[in-house]
Amino acid sequence: MRIVLLGAPGAGKGTQCKRLVSQYSLAHLSSGDILRQERAQGTDLGRQAQSYMDSGALVPDDLIIGMMKKAIDQTPKAGYVLDGFPRTLKQALELDKVLVAGGSPIDAVINLEVDDAIIADRMSGRRSCPACGAVYHIRNLKPQKDGVCDKDGTALIQRPDDDLEVVKKRLETYRQQTQPLIGYYQKQGVLHEVDANAGADAVDSVIREVLDKLIVRRRPVARARR
Ligand code: ADP
Ligand code: AMP
Repeated sequence: MRIVLLGAPGAGKGTQCKRLVSQYSLAHLSSGDILRQERAQGTDLGRQAQSYMDSGALVPDDLIIGMMKKAIDQTPKAGYVLDGFPRTLKQALELDKVLVAGGSPIDAVINLEVDDAIIADRMSGRRSCPACGAVYHIRNLKPQKDGVCDKDGTALIQRPDDDLEVVKKRLETYRQQTQPLIGYYQKQGVLHEVDANAGADAVDSVIREVLDKLIVRRRPVARARR
């Protein structure tokens, strides 16, 4: 299965992707995580992306498209979930071109719908592990010990772009450049809307229902082809 998770920054895409990855044996391709790794490694791409990320703008399409094509190329076609990509119409068109040419189009796009007030709370309370990328929330999804990653004991940090002013800019960027993708995928008939205001377990169950139905629907086709 090839899945795209759409949603505003802070909607819970990364949190849900990590769950899907283990439940459905998928690879997790997060454009934000890849960019943060590039920055940590001090690569050219990381340096080029830095100012855009810190100001809440999108990194230019050409850089992102190249980066994600490479990541997709290195991932088995059988299954992955895209998190944070595509984020513009140009990125979506390029992604379609590449996947359709390779005979492996997107199976489902899941749009996580979250109210603005909840988004603001999720982003202001987000804490991340700079070593392994694990994500927590100071109230909703707490680590066992405050401020410390459960997985490797590293001190958790607040992402610099979760600063209130940058968050405002990121939400504006989302509305202008990413929200139109909802209509784009709706027209393709692959969009599934999920109310993601509830807790992470409840959202996880709804996503699983959507994906399980999709898998069941695909099974007879697969048998008929054999
Ligand atoms: P995104 O990848 O969409 O930017 P994250 O997965 O990083 O969002 O989630 C943003 C913050 O909200 C994190 O602190 C995460 O722990 C918390 N969070 C994610 N999903 C939920 C949820 N369903 N209920 C409450 N908090 C959540
Ligand atoms: P995220 O971790 O998804 O919230 O992304 C963090 C930041 O990385 C964003 O605010 C953008 O600056 C940049 N970024 C991530 N994905 C993309 C993308 N698909 N297109 C452009 N910029 C991106």
